[in-house]
Amino acid sequence: MTDFHKVIKRIDSYRDEMIDLQISLCSLPAISPLSGGEGEAKKAEFLLDFLNKIGLVDIEVIKAPDLDAPAGYRPNILAFYRGQSSSKTIWVMTHMDVVPPGELAQWRGNPFRAWVEEGKIYGRGTEDNQQDMVASLFALKAFHQEGILPRYDVGIALVADEETGSGKGIDYVLRHSNPFRLQDLIIVPDAGNSQGTMIEVAEKSILWLKFTTLGLQAHGSTPEKGINSFKAASFLITELDKLYQLFPEKDPLFDPPKSTFEPTKKEANVPNINTIPGEDIFYMDCRILPKYSIEQIEAQIKEMTARIENKFKVKIDIEKQQKAPAAPPTSAEAEVVKALKRAIKEVYGKEGKAVGIGGGTVASIFRRKNFQAACWSKVEETAHQPNEYCIIDNMVGDAKVFAHIFLQE
Ligand SMILES: [Zn+2]
Repeated sequence: MTDFHKVIKRIDSYRDEMIDLQISLCSLPAISPLSGGEGEAKKAEFLLDFLNKIGLVDIEVIKAPDLDAPAGYRPNILAFYRGQSSSKTIWVMTHMDVVPPGELAQWRGNPFRAWVEEGKIYGRGTEDNQQDMVASLFALKAFHQEGILPRYDVGIALVADEETGSGKGIDYVLRHSNPFRLQDLIIVPDAGNSQGTMIEVAEKSILWLKFTTLGLQAHGSTPEKGINSFKAASFLITELDKLYQLFPEKDPLFDPPKSTFEPTKKEANVPNINTIPGEDIFYMDCRILPKYSIEQIEAQIKEMTARIENKFKVKIDIEKQQKAPAAPPTSAEAEVVKALKRAIKEVYGKEGKAVGIGGGTVASIFRRKNFQAACWSKVEETAHQPNEYCIIDNMVGDAKVFAHIFLQE
């Protein structure tokens, strides 16, 4: 029997223990103080105990001060499992925090008392991000119990504050500690698809804008006495649609392969039909391929807006709601991508594919510092929903994927 076969046989034998760990983790709801919770301190204490039991003894806890958390800090755990060589580290980073359950009436059970039903574990955090946290820990437990050394050091990062911006999570860790090296492989199992084939390596820039159009209110029967802000804003929206033609380039790495410029939210204006509205507010969500700069898009939008202001004699105010330039992508040829592809093929019999997405994974924090980080997991994408669940087979399978990578040359 090869080392890999010994390890995956072990992992299969852990199925019930993995479910038990999920249930224990769910009972320690690590909701950010910003979302009305007490943070990750209790969950971290529990996990530190578990790490010790599976042979991870080289542990650093980095506490980000947070006066809103009862503990006074937000814990980030870095734990090492030594391999045959320390020339690089294979990292798996997951986050301890969970989002609030939302409307409890929409849940079929208590979100913090996980329950098992037809091969799935239900509960807040079961998929996001405990599925792969548990998977990575049990992959190492298998090495520990088999007495097999991983090829390289393995690093387990259990971080705080992912759901509210990572300022007290991995962002804080990178500013206050320096455990990562450029040659390390960083796997962030916090995005994926149900086939387990999506390896996320790049993202688009995000630009969210609020447009306030000011005209002049008047009676509906005498539009000439006013300036219809809603009509002017509507012309602006059709003008803004030309951004698609002005910035048409495609990049097949991304899904969808082009930049998108969509009007989204619309605020109510007048409550009655017979008033010409004097103020109109709508919003736009732009997801921009990294080959264009956000400033280029903003300049174009300004020009379009000025044309509409002139034509309709309105005043249009543009307010940025979010502006997040894309991080430099991880190469589709990066070592971490190749390692994931090999393991996915071996465990799930599928071809992994490097892709870019519309935006916003925690891996971008690594990419901004030039680390090669990839997001991957086999998930149903039930994160943040009521009745969030994880498929037990995915949790066990992902553990095997990590184990395969830990053994790769
Ligand atoms: Zn997550």
